[in-house]
Amino acid sequence: ADGMRRILVTGGAGFIGSNFVRWWCGQNPGQVVVLDALVYSGNRASLAELGAEQLRFVQGDICDRALVSKLLEAAAIDTIIHFAAESHVDRSILGPAAFVQTNMVGTFTLLEAFRDRWQTQGKPADYRFLHVSTDEVYGSLGPDDPAFTETTPYAPNSPYSASKAGSDHLVRAYFHTYGLPTLITNCSNNYGPYQFPEKLIPLMCVNILLGRSLPVYGDGQNLRDWLHVSDHCGAIATVLNQAQPGEVYNIGGNNQVKNIDIVHQLCDLMDDRAGELPVFPARQLITFVTDRPGHDRRYAMDIHKIQRDLGWSPQFDFSTGLKQTVEWYLTHRDWWQPLLSEEYQTFYQKLYGPG
Ligand code: NAD
Repeated sequence: ADGMRRILVTGGAGFIGSNFVRWWCGQNPGQVVVLDALVYSGNRASLAELGAEQLRFVQGDICDRALVSKLLEAAAIDTIIHFAAESHVDRSILGPAAFVQTNMVGTFTLLEAFRDRWQTQGKPADYRFLHVSTDEVYGSLGPDDPAFTETTPYAPNSPYSASKAGSDHLVRAYFHTYGLPTLITNCSNNYGPYQFPEKLIPLMCVNILLGRSLPVYGDGQNLRDWLHVSDHCGAIATVLNQAQPGEVYNIGGNNQVKNIDIVHQLCDLMDDRAGELPVFPARQLITFVTDRPGHDRRYAMDIHKIQRDLGWSPQFDFSTGLKQTVEWYLTHRDWWQPLLSEEYQTFYQKLYGPG
């Protein structure tokens, strides 16, 4: 029955969502419905290679209850994979309102519409609402603290992580209160193709190619766990197909890397293509900037639960994945160049100043 799911993917024109839809269509027959508002980070071009047999694309807001309900019914949806979100910590510091609206009110709206449909259909046991969340809900770790587990108390520190934490709690409550068959995944930092250039890895790739300075926050020693987006897609499908409703799974790469080490690796990979670089060697562009307020020092994920219960483990080797990602940004200027809009430049200058 799993191969025949009728899925709605929210945020399917974003970074992880578009990778997931492409990946899903490669594995499963049938049409995926995508609902995406195409805010600044959503890009229809990220799904360009999928035709009408595989994809029905609807531009709209997850906070629009009438639209969501209509869509669930018209497409006979039994499964929601919920990616849509405001996703950038720095933007949440500059303007938190959109984060509360989309991440909390939007998730609530989807839950209500899905609960209504599930009840109307007689509470089918195979319906699923899979909520995609982040390791940032758990807060920040000291150098010697053990990694986050699924039972680590929530301690979000940014408006972004607080709004994701709020949405996680709503999803949890809909399972415990109404019995709605929900699942939650909390994943570490993703990297790979189609990521909007505001995030660390594509920001550095694009800036190296433009000869722009490479802003590194604080001392650059912040530690993140990095997972290739393809591994994340596989983990989500594994949880969807195998996990019991109400479960929560951490997803990660067992791969903690300091920000500054990533920047160095990216510079060195780009230096292999010296002929295409305005500034060589690229490390000359590194500029340390005033730290992000409330900047979490370290995240690390304990992924024993998903390994033990569902047999999933990350497959991508980080240096290979990073090399492929650099190659992707080198060969897809036509994808990222149009994203450097006036809105983007204004946001960029607010954060890092001119340069
Ligand atoms: P993204 O910013 O690239 O994509 C978000 C998508 O949601 C965009 O296509 C955008 O247009 C859409 N969207 C925003 N507001 C909307 C609204 N009101 N209605 C409908 N669509 C809307 O984000 P991403 O990096 O792909 O992250 C996807 C999800 O995964 C998010 O929920 C995020 O919290 C979570 N996550 C991301 C990471 C990561 O490293 N990127 C890690 C863990 C979890």
